[in-house]
Amino acid sequence: MPNWFSVIGDKMRTIVRLLSFLKPFAGLVLLSVLLNTAAILAGIGLLGTSADLIARAALQPSIAELQVSIVGVRFFGISRAVLRYLERLVSHSVNFRLLARVRVWFYNRVEPLAPARIEDYQSGDLLQRVIGDIESLENFYVRSVAPPLSAVFITTAMGWIVGSVDWRLGLVLVCGLLFSGAVLSLLALRIGEKVGKVFVAAKAHLSAEIVSAVQGISDIIAYSQQESVLENFKAHQRTTSHVQRTLVAGSGLINGLMILLTNLTLVLVLWLAIPMISTGSLEGYRLAVLAIITLASFEAVNNLPSAAQSLHSNLESAKRLFELSDQPPAVKELTSTVSVLAGSPEILEINRLSFRYPARADTILENISFTLLPEKKIALVGESGAGKSTLISVLLRYWDYEEGEVRLNGIDYKRLDPQEIRRRLGVVSASPYIFSATVRQNLKIANPIAEEDELLNAVRLAGLAEWLDSLPDGLDTWVGEHGQLLSGGERQRLAVARALLSKAPFILLDEPTSGLDSLKEMELMNTIFDLFDQRGLLWVTHRLIQMDRLDEIIVLRAGRVIERGKHNRLLAAGGYYAKLWQAQQRLLWEARPDLLV
Ligand code: ADP
Repeated sequence: MPNWFSVIGDKMRTIVRLLSFLKPFAGLVLLSVLLNTAAILAGIGLLGTSADLIARAALQPSIAELQVSIVGVRFFGISRAVLRYLERLVSHSVNFRLLARVRVWFYNRVEPLAPARIEDYQSGDLLQRVIGDIESLENFYVRSVAPPLSAVFITTAMGWIVGSVDWRLGLVLVCGLLFSGAVLSLLALRIGEKVGKVFVAAKAHLSAEIVSAVQGISDIIAYSQQESVLENFKAHQRTTSHVQRTLVAGSGLINGLMILLTNLTLVLVLWLAIPMISTGSLEGYRLAVLAIITLASFEAVNNLPSAAQSLHSNLESAKRLFELSDQPPAVKELTSTVSVLAGSPEILEINRLSFRYPARADTILENISFTLLPEKKIALVGESGAGKSTLISVLLRYWDYEEGEVRLNGIDYKRLDPQEIRRRLGVVSASPYIFSATVRQNLKIANPIAEEDELLNAVRLAGLAEWLDSLPDGLDTWVGEHGQLLSGGERQRLAVARALLSKAPFILLDEPTSGLDSLKEMELMNTIFDLFDQRGLLWVTHRLIQMDRLDEIIVLRAGRVIERGKHNRLLAAGGYYAKLWQAQQRLLWEARPDLLV
């Protein structure tokens, strides 16, 4: 049995949080409520005066007696259209501004969480949150905030107007409106509650499956798995359709009940009003006006139940947004930061650093110390899983560390703005992300203000001159989705060009040659060593090539440094490094004897 108080408390908290986004637009929201109320009242006025005009005209009075009604019809006819137009203008303007505000807020909250905190979410699920869930809030603001307020105003106003004829008529109308507005909304809320959560989750699943299938489309085709992927889609679609059917059946029922209640109210009003005509307390032609304005008043409550029905899915969407945005960043936010002084000597010191992932009990890095200076070249070697990439992530400030210290130009990492740290660290990773954009745009993410000459020079130095010449539009050539039009080597070289453009004094290389054949690997590493001669290099690798060009090799095993020193000394020591080296030489000898001569 759920604890209803806490469930309701949760929902109320979500609603209050959602409403808080409206704060800067409070004036406009109030204006849209007033305009909506006025437009509905004008509609009621138009129908009321029209009924009055037609009913009285049937008695063939002089035209002068009809003047007021004629003017009334004109006035309400025009004002209704103008008011509705203004109301739409204001409410859409609030809505678009509000969604823009939510999007910016969401982005600002999620950005510091990336990449550490969002790696547990599937891309499709994230996409659904960013697009679908935010859009569904539109429903909340447009349908759940202003209309109920207008309904309250109109119920009061119409109760008073009709009640001025006879209080019992006013009471019947108010009860009818309350029943259809409030009771049907509660019923709709109940229907929506059951399916809202399932509906939002089903849509998120479907979106995650679709994105994952699109990303892996070539493997799906290669392994002829189209049928099973389609089956999977269909299963998810079936869940979504089932939920949608329940929702539609629910709204059908509510619509039917709404019509029933409207007409029941009308019958009651007529039942009370007709005898009043016989007693002479109500003029006959006014009966038509009463009947018509009773019907017209229901415009105020007609859409409340459907808003109530979607309230749960709106709140569920909001919950999904808050769930992500409320995650604490992996790196504690700084209340105040200090700046790395421009011109200070560049030095990156890692001192007795230990690290473990929050979700894991074991220590991934233990007691690591080394110092990186410009021109110094350090390799971090070790087999897969030793913790090499983790060290790069910690240095890039994706994760916080508990023990030891890292200092950049003498300043504690924990006091520096992560952005500032990253500006001093260029990265070439194992699989650099190539955006679905032009070569130029892909380069400019490293240095948005780089001039044309700098871009061309970086591409040339990275060994891509010939490749660039072969492109139809040079730097403006589109590189395909995720850089599909590039070979593995070209992607890595593009990443090298980015690192060159970044002007960072330290370059972190995370297995930059993985996926390349031995010859290409040699060539790329030669390019890297030559290009970054003046910068500090930290090269993470499990492949031991060009080791004699390094100032220091740190051998990592299960997160600990087990050996360190220069290549020749480590070989002579005959330890773990020497064994790794010999094993790789044997493999290389079998594969490419030419490279060893
Ligand atoms: P290497 O780069 O040397 O191959 P990694 O640094 O990638 O090693 O991984 C070291 C260990 O940390 C592995 O056991 C891996 O499973 C674990 N690991 C890597 N990333 C995460 C993560 N985001 N969360 C939890 N554990 C992780």
